[in-house]
Amino acid sequence: MGYAPVRRKTSGGKYKPHFSLSFRSQDKDVTFGVDTTRLTRNDDQFFLITHAHTDHYGKSAMLSKRALASDKTALALELRHDQRFGGVRFQVGDTVDVEGVKVRTYPTHHSIGSTAFYWENELGVKTLITGDIKDSKDLPKCDLLVMEATYGNPGDLSCVFEDDYAAFEAALRERRVGFGAYSFGKAQRAVSLIREMGDDRTIGMDQSALRLTRHLLGDEAGDIVRLDHRYEGGLCITSPWSLDRLPPGMKKYVLTGQHYYEHPCICISDHIDFKGLREMVGRLDPQFVIVYHPEVGNSRHFSRFLNNNGRDACTLADLSPIRQTTL
Ligand SMILES: [Zn+2]
Repeated sequence: MGYAPVRRKTSGGKYKPHFSLSFRSQDKDVTFGVDTTRLTRNDDQFFLITHAHTDHYGKSAMLSKRALASDKTALALELRHDQRFGGVRFQVGDTVDVEGVKVRTYPTHHSIGSTAFYWENELGVKTLITGDIKDSKDLPKCDLLVMEATYGNPGDLSCVFEDDYAAFEAALRERRVGFGAYSFGKAQRAVSLIREMGDDRTIGMDQSALRLTRHLLGDEAGDIVRLDHRYEGGLCITSPWSLDRLPPGMKKYVLTGQHYYEHPCICISDHIDFKGLREMVGRLDPQFVIVYHPEVGNSRHFSRFLNNNGRDACTLADLSPIRQTTL
């Protein structure tokens, strides 16, 4: 297919997170790093940053002038890590020229600004990097698919779910209610849902979630304020591990697709479930799939599931050691 997947090692001998794809373009070698970190200050690959969650390593890559991130992802990275984004910003939907390679960008609806990247190499192989996905409806067909599989285990019942908007709406009818949500991604999804459901109450939020939400949602966030000991409102969003600090009389729920919290959970996820992943691969119909995230665990399960159903697929572990694999 004209690609050499590359896994690099740190000075400590461990593989760097995620991986890179090297290919020929207009008689030059080009390397796209996929949600990976810089090797050195002068690392000359291009860094595709799909979104601003820390397990996609934008904190390191954002410093490179060869980084690519959507304007909202770049802003979220700057707010989260208090350092300047040094690369190229684009609007999701734009096409970006990288050394003559036309890189198209698509929304994945996972977090604000989350982006899938698509290009063709010299052989005309259509390549799609998904990052994390909440909805794959906008993604194009491809030959090489590089995808996440957070909920990719067909043998795990918790990998099949649907968002429970009815339970969320019912919780909003409580006079005093607090939701546990991570400060980037889930907190903004929660605020957007609350406003879509017609609740215009003031929302108290943790400092970091408040700052991110103000910058990323703007006026759409409505009235949001700092959640501290003076806050007396009846609706708030805090981190899942801080729910216990809310007053005893307040109903408390974690917004998540996971099942390991003490408080009752309402299924509101930033990911598609196993069925969604399976449907997406069927529709995009790639010749080869690299399941790159998470680095271990359900990636292996989903890759095996694809193999068992007649598709060529592998995980990052299958791409090691460095440069021994070509596609
Ligand atoms: Zn993510």
